[in-house]
Amino acid sequence: MKYSEYSAVIVGSGAAGLYAALKISKQVNLPDGILLITKSELGESNSKYAQGGIVGVIHQNPEDSVRMHVNDTLNAGAGLSDKETVEFISKTSDIVINDLISMGVDFDRDENGKLTFTLEAAHSIRRILHLGGDATGRGIVEALSKRVLSDNNITVMPHTMAVELLVSSENECKGAIVYNELTGEHEVVYTPALILATGGVCQIYKYTTNPEGATGDGVALAYEAGAIIQDMEFIQFHPTALALSQNNKNRFLISESVRGEGAKLINERGEEFMSKYSDKRELAPRDVVTRAIYKEMLTNNSANVFLNASIINPTKLLSRFPTIKGRCAENGIDITRTPIPVAPAAHYTMGGIRAEVDGKTSIAGLYAIGEVASTGLHGANRLASNSLLECVVCAYELAEYLSFSELQIPKKIDDGIKKMIDVYSRSISGVQYNVDNLKSKLKDIMWNNVGIVRTEKGLLSAQSAIDKLKKDFKRRRKCLSIKEYEYRNMLTVSSLIIEGALERRESRGAHCRADYGLIIENALHSNILKTEKKELSYVE
Ligand SMILES: Cc1cc2nc3c(=O)[nH]c(=O)nc-3n(C[C@H](O)[C@H](O)[C@H](O)COP(=O)(O)OP(=O)(O)OC[C@H]3O[C@@H](n4cnc5c(N)ncnc54)[C@H](O)[C@@H]3O)c2cc1C
Repeated sequence: MKYSEYSAVIVGSGAAGLYAALKISKQVNLPDGILLITKSELGESNSKYAQGGIVGVIHQNPEDSVRMHVNDTLNAGAGLSDKETVEFISKTSDIVINDLISMGVDFDRDENGKLTFTLEAAHSIRRILHLGGDATGRGIVEALSKRVLSDNNITVMPHTMAVELLVSSENECKGAIVYNELTGEHEVVYTPALILATGGVCQIYKYTTNPEGATGDGVALAYEAGAIIQDMEFIQFHPTALALSQNNKNRFLISESVRGEGAKLINERGEEFMSKYSDKRELAPRDVVTRAIYKEMLTNNSANVFLNASIINPTKLLSRFPTIKGRCAENGIDITRTPIPVAPAAHYTMGGIRAEVDGKTSIAGLYAIGEVASTGLHGANRLASNSLLECVVCAYELAEYLSFSELQIPKKIDDGIKKMIDVYSRSISGVQYNVDNLKSKLKDIMWNNVGIVRTEKGLLSAQSAIDKLKKDFKRRRKCLSIKEYEYRNMLTVSSLIIEGALERRESRGAHCRADYGLIIENALHSNILKTEKKELSYVE
């Protein structure tokens, strides 16, 4: 097996991974350089598809304040957000947003050159910066990727997946085993700073807005290595994804900012219905709007509702949402005239690897930033456009933290790690699994039983179905392809979500238990899932 050493290894090339690479490269002493590995092409990520924007509590918007943003975030989080974390991230947004601007992220401006801010649900003021109208993520990822590619400290390894963390018996991460799909080889990378920026898990659901790569790898790897994972039951279902047919599974998002600009939800009889569910109507928190749509769909036995954007001034509508206009037009929908068919889809992972705002986890040398991390910002329900902000603030803080550390390549590798490497050095053969088929079975189970509304009966039935899938899939460690590794990881994170959902016997934020009542105000604690480091198992 090939071995290499880097002062820092970053896994993932979304907003968190790219920005961390650039900041660490600038601020940290790196005798052995940075390796950035990513599962497909550089920049392919959830971040790239972000539309609405990024929260900016910045000096250029004097009507806004940290206090207002903190209140909005805490309200959306349904009592589970960590106030200190929220305050910290909100306060730091002025520095990081202006840093992004200085790096060439060209947020939209008005004719006088002033930054423009949009409104999204549950925000009390216009504070969301956007780019290219509704192509904010693409703009950020392109600007940062360009810089990463020209940075001599950073080596980029695309089509490469982290498949195992090398954690010693002293609970220190020494590196990872990675699988390079281009060469078909496994390799060992040693590093004193292993940074997971691997994004979310929502590909475990049949209907999702997330691209193919969002398979929960970081959470699964960290869990297997013994890290603390928390709040996995909180999966955000976005209310409005384009619902063209039941077969259209990876669903294109219709950004919340379309409702922020005035679009209305209507049912199949053309009736507006949000006033029945919330006095904030279309701008109620996401979980409320999602459940309202779910109820309308059930009551009317329909596969979707509609978003009527034709009431917005057409010039404004087309210039603010060119990407949405384009995708709808490809499917024969003129958004200035025709209501858009929409339905909820799995969108964002609030839980994850427990991490501090500078990425520190419960394992020394292992850091988690962005959607893979659970810092306490989002609580039980993420406030729109807070996630991109969390990615960049935590990446920034991690670079600050590492700048005070001495990043020396680990020398002592214990027997457990040697044994682990040995597992990946052996060749394996065996049945070829039809992974697409298996993934689709898993997604059906999760959508039908662990979705927007949950019950103990449904959760238990999903748990036993997934246990059966795990039994049938013999590759617990070394696999034959990225797709097999993804499936292995999807099984792990699905079990974690179910475990959390069974334990949380209340309805709070995005977690709705039909067999338990609404929020119990005093039951405030994070749901912590911890595994002892797993016995080394190798089944071919
Ligand atoms: C359609 C859509 C619209 C959104 N709109 C907004 C918005 O307007 N505002 C907002 O704040 N948030 C939005 N979000 C959420 C936000 O985009 C994400 O939370 C955020 O971009 C996550 O960034 P990240 O860097 O943590 O992860 P990602 O951007 O998902 O990047 C993860 C990276 O890790 C790589 N990876 C994963 N596993 C491995 C592995 N094992 N080995 C190697 N590489 C790996 C992936 O290939 C990818 O490059 C949206 C999300 C979606 C899907």
